[in-house]
Order: sequence, then structure tokens, then C-alpha cells
Amino acid sequence: MEKKTLAYWQDKAATLSIEGRAFIDGAYRDAYSGRTFDCVSPIDARVLASVADCGAADVDAAVAAARRAFDAQVWAGLNPRARKSVLLRWAALMREHLDELALLETLDAGKPIGDTTTVDVPGAAYCVQWFAEAIDKIGGEVAPADHHLVGLVTREPIGVVAAVVPWNFPILMASWKFGPALAAGNSVVLKPSEKSPLTAIRVAQLAHEAGIPAGVFNVLPGGGEPGKLLALHRDVDCLAFTGSTGVGKQIMQYAGQSNLKRVWLELGGKSPNIVLPDCPDLDRAANAAASAIFYNMGEMCTAGSRLLVHRDIKDVFLAKLVEAARQYVPGNPLDPKTSMGAIVDKIQLERVLSYIEAGRKEAKLLLGGDRVNESSGGFYLQPTVFDTHHDSKIAREEIFGPVLSVITFSTIDEAVRIANDTDYGLAAAVWTANLTHAHDIARRLRAGTVWVNCYDEGGDMNFPFGGFKESGNGRDKSLHALEKYTELKSTLVRLR
Ligand code: NAP
Ligand code: MG
Repeated sequence: MEKKTLAYWQDKAATLSIEGRAFIDGAYRDAYSGRTFDCVSPIDARVLASVADCGAADVDAAVAAARRAFDAQVWAGLNPRARKSVLLRWAALMREHLDELALLETLDAGKPIGDTTTVDVPGAAYCVQWFAEAIDKIGGEVAPADHHLVGLVTREPIGVVAAVVPWNFPILMASWKFGPALAAGNSVVLKPSEKSPLTAIRVAQLAHEAGIPAGVFNVLPGGGEPGKLLALHRDVDCLAFTGSTGVGKQIMQYAGQSNLKRVWLELGGKSPNIVLPDCPDLDRAANAAASAIFYNMGEMCTAGSRLLVHRDIKDVFLAKLVEAARQYVPGNPLDPKTSMGAIVDKIQLERVLSYIEAGRKEAKLLLGGDRVNESSGGFYLQPTVFDTHHDSKIAREEIFGPVLSVITFSTIDEAVRIANDTDYGLAAAVWTANLTHAHDIARRLRAGTVWVNCYDEGGDMNFPFGGFKESGNGRDKSLHALEKYTELKSTLVRLR
């Protein structure tokens, strides 16, 4: 088998042809306005492609196509088995095009190729497969009722689903929306982030090849505008969003100002990772604490960005943590050996650097703090660790970059209080050998996912994923995700 080296990926990148048009009603199209924007690689600031900058006319065309397809029942009206076959073909095509899709994702978002080939693209294909396999196995209910009635409780597709997604896991986060939404029979209009539109655009062609009918799956690249227009659109029945809490709040308002479309939000986080003195394995905990914040350059909604360490083990644990953090060396994401790629763009780089500046003033820098590899033209940051206190800016706000805040505590109650003293509630972790403490703390942590003696485990689709509080509502992944894309209907039939 050919060894996939840096040279292999560079050669492939040099000859890659990149599609930048929107995909509407079964075909690639330029934006109606003719406008485009430059899609820039964070690896070296090279322009990868001109991408359609969609506006109101494109949004209307995509929503109208999605509605026509839905009303004609070309997808929703199929036997679920038939939808399953098409979606399984689509998943297979994503796997056949693994290298191309992973390369696009790496070039566009700066993620290491070792991750896009093993996590992002296979994960998206698996998500489509998983929901496809589920859809012909679940049915409705016959509810208890008066003897002269038959009462059916069924789930029906909601109609036109708009999915607005972020740039940190571009195709994976998109698949968590379009997988269940399409499996349930809806039409989908997908709006990728302006920072990372390329894989979404490419998989639309594969959807078409797999047999998804025209209008059922549309992709609208563009700046914030198409997202806002979709959220305000009166003919969009559901808006599924992953992104920042600020934009999530606006989207709820847009729904209120328009047609009360269903709004599902997967938002930000500032997740606590608590290490108790009886942690069963400090080396493993240190490695996991580093990967919790430095994997994917810290561009993780579930990032363990607050490390809460008990006073008694602080010195020994921080020494191990800094050692583990040094394994993350920013480098060319096209090199399979690279563990840490580029920050997605210059705006995000500067945002993270401004937090590091704030940290230098209010906290003690233990590691990193600088931009590196600047001569490449790309946007690279060192893994950065601050020893700080719970009320500092860097410990309270979501940075969405490779910056860890270490906070010291003395008692379990104090740790739980600090952990929960945030507007977010996406994820949390605790490390302890004491079973009672593990369960008790897990129960008290206000978060959608709690890990005990691990972090970020459970990559398969069986666990609902989402947040408490301002980390959002509804859940991606698992059979529960299908509920978001259906309406419940009661049908009562009088027999006599
Ligand atoms: P973002 O700025 O909120 O953008 C998310 C998406 O919304 C993008 O497609 C964006 O388009 C679009 N958008 C921007 N303004 C909009 C508006 N007024 N109305 C409608 N749509 C609008 O978030 P991001 O910077 O891409 O992603 C980082 C955030 O996502 C972090 O807060 C992170 O925690 C969160 N996140 C959460 C999860 C989760 O599952 N909970 C997963 C991943 C990321 P443009 O980019 O083209 O402007
Ligand atoms: Mg990009």
C-alpha cells in the first residue's frame, strides 16, 4: 500500500480541483448575484477557491426547491427501507472519496490530515450510515383509548430543515444534522461556515450520485447572511444550529420574529475537568487533560478548558500536564505526523491571541503563549497553559483555542461549585477512584455529558450530545436526535 506522506498529500493538493458553487435543486449553481468570496487555507494563507456568496435569492431558491421536493413526497414518501439504501450508498461514496474529502477539510480548516482521515470524514459517513440503519426499525405507538377508538401516535417529518453549522468539525457537525434529518424524510438546506465550506459543497454531488432526489439536499455557502435569512424564512420549518451562544440567541429571536420554526441549538462551552487527589492514574489524567484542550487546536465545543486540580496534587500534576502538552507541536497539517494544525483563520488567531494577552495580565503563564511558524504564512499557536483563578476572564469566557486555565480547589463542594458556576453546561469530567464520589459528583455536575476517569470518550453514535443552560437545547446523535426532525401526531379513528 502506498505510504501517505507529506509529499503524497502535497502532490494531491496541487492537482485537486475544488468546487465552490452552491448546490441547489440537484445542480451546482453560482450565486444569483454572481458574488464570490475567497476561501483561504489557514495552512499558508493561500486562496483555495472562489466560493459562491449566497444571498436572499439563493436562499429562496433553495428553500423553494426543498419545499417542492417535500410536497411531492419524492423522499418522505419512500418506504424507509428505500431511503436507507440511498443513504447507505451516500455513506459508501463518502468512504470511497475519503482522501479527497479529508484533504479538502485539512486544506480548508487547518485540521491535521491524521485526524480528518480517521475522525472527521469516517465519522460523517458513519453518522449517515447509523441513522439510515435506524430508520426502518422504529415505528409509532397504538395508545390506550376508549374501546370505540383506535388511537395512533406517529412521527412525521417536519418538512424543510435548515442546518447552520460551524467550522471546527465542518463535515462532521453537518452530518450530525443532515444524517438524522434526511433519514427522517425531511428536505435539508445546509449552510456551512464561511470559513470552511468546501466539504459540504463536495458531498452534495455525492448525495446526488447516491440517488438523493433533486431539492432534498441543498448547500448554500456564504457569510452570516444565508444563516440569518434561513432563520427568518417563513417556509423553513426547523432550524438546527451548531455554533456560538451569541448567534444561537439571535436565531431564537429570528424564529420568534417569523414563523416559530423549531430551533435546536448546540452552542459553546467552558467545560470543567476536575482532578481529585485519589485520581487512579495521574499520567493518564494528565494526557487526557492535555488532549481535552489541545486536540483540534482547542477548537472544540467540549474542550476541557478549565482544569480544576486539588491543592494536594497540584505541583506533581501540573508537571505531568506540561510534559503532556509539549507533545502538541504546531506543524503543517498535511504532514501525517502533525499532532496540532493551524487555527482556522486570522480572525480566530487574533481572537485567541487577545485572550492570551489578557491571561498574561491576570494569570501566571506556565507554557506557550506565542504564535509560531509565521514564515509559512499560516496561523499557528503554541499550546498554552495558565495558572489562574476561577474569576479571571480567561477562565470564564469561551476562547475556542489552545488555551488552558488551571484552577486550584481544596474541597469537593468547592470544586462542584466552581464547575457549575458558568452560563454553559456542555460537558464535564471528574477523576477519582472513589465510586461514591464519582457518582455523586457526576450527578451534581450540570452538563449534557459527564466523563468519569476519561475525557472525550464515546465517539460512537449511541450517546445524545448537547448542552444544559446556555450550551443549547435538544440533542445531536443517538435515536433522540431523530425526534428533533419530526412532529408528533395523534390520529384518532372512531370505529362505531
Ligand atoms: P458562529 O460564529 O456562531 O457561526 C456558526 C454558524 O452560524 C456559521 O455557519 C455562521 O456563518 C452562521 N452565522 C453567523 N452569524 C449568523 C446569524 N446572525 N444568523 C444565522 N447564522 C449565522 O460559530 P463558529 O465560530 O462557527 O463556531 C464556534 C462556536 O461553535 C463555539 O462557540 C463552539 O463552542 C460552538 N460549537 C458547538 C458545538 C456543539 O455541539 N455544542 C460544536 C461545535 C462548535 P459564517 O461562519 O459564514 O459567518
Ligand atoms: Mg477555510
